[in-house]
Amino acid sequence: MRQLTFIEPGKLEWWDVPAPQITNATDAIVRPLAVARCDLDYATVRGTGLQGGPFAFGHECAGEVVEIGEGVTSVKPGDRVIVPFQISCGTCDHCRQGWTNSCLTVTRGAVYGMKPICGEEFGGALSELMHVPFADHMLVPLPNNVRPEVLAGGSDNIADAWRTVAPHMEKYENPTVLVVGSGRGIGLYAVQVAFAHGASRVLYAEIGAGGEALRMAAEMGAEVQLVPSAADLKSLGSFNIAVDSSGDMEGLKLAIRSTGSNGTCTSNSVPFDNAVPFPMTAMYTKGISFHTSRVQGRALLPQIVEEVARGHFHPEQVTTREAAFSEAAEAMDDPGPKIVFTNDWT
Ligand SMILES: [Zn+2]
Ligand SMILES: [Zn+2]
Repeated sequence: MRQLTFIEPGKLEWWDVPAPQITNATDAIVRPLAVARCDLDYATVRGTGLQGGPFAFGHECAGEVVEIGEGVTSVKPGDRVIVPFQISCGTCDHCRQGWTNSCLTVTRGAVYGMKPICGEEFGGALSELMHVPFADHMLVPLPNNVRPEVLAGGSDNIADAWRTVAPHMEKYENPTVLVVGSGRGIGLYAVQVAFAHGASRVLYAEIGAGGEALRMAAEMGAEVQLVPSAADLKSLGSFNIAVDSSGDMEGLKLAIRSTGSNGTCTSNSVPFDNAVPFPMTAMYTKGISFHTSRVQGRALLPQIVEEVARGHFHPEQVTTREAAFSEAAEAMDDPGPKIVFTNDWT
């Protein structure tokens, strides 16, 4: 079958690889229908993300079940489902507590389309078929009224934005939200979620040159601010909830400095070193809660799906381009905030 394979920055190839098989009674085989480009995919093809090709590429997927093992009861061939990008079993001590980012049954950090993270190849979403273990737990039904293109990224970039904002809103009377973005999808989803959950004010800031995402955030109703150099700026104000999706050390520090009294600051940027200096005295005095982790993709997915199905927020408004699977190798470095690929092989 066809498999999009990352070789090195700027180089993706279509490889012909063996199709996955059912190897366990709890497995399913899924045919991807829509695959969203994760913000990390963009960084990887640009040379600032993952390294260590070759590996199967693409991990934000919605698709159709084509085959199930004899032990699978919750889905059947023909069902439309969302495939969580992280692989988890649903029954271990961690999964039972909702820590589906660190399942104890599978290889640590097991994910599709990002072999360097876990060291094991689980296949990618820009392929004709995907192998899904623990299918009864893993696969989340796609509502009939939602196109696969809308929720392909439901367990990853969309959930990753949602968790920075939604769970913290109830702590504050008229919550104000700051999102320090990078021009990619996650920051824009966070803006959407903030408004959907009743933010009284949302500021979307971007460090550097700025582009399409600033315009889109303004269209969503956010105040926007371009920050030429974050190091020179004391703060962007005083926010109940601050989100760092900047992928930039100075952006993270600016988000912390802009978190107000008893505020909550979450960073979902992936730091590639351990050298972030925390302004602990200021954080202690203000009473800031700081959170960082990989997203709990599978655990959060049902809530995300429900909110999108009832029109609470609209991930499709963040998508700047829909392209065909067969265009994916060329379109992966499109500078737009969010690209979604649609299966044109049928
Ligand atoms: Zn991702
Ligand atoms: Zn588990």
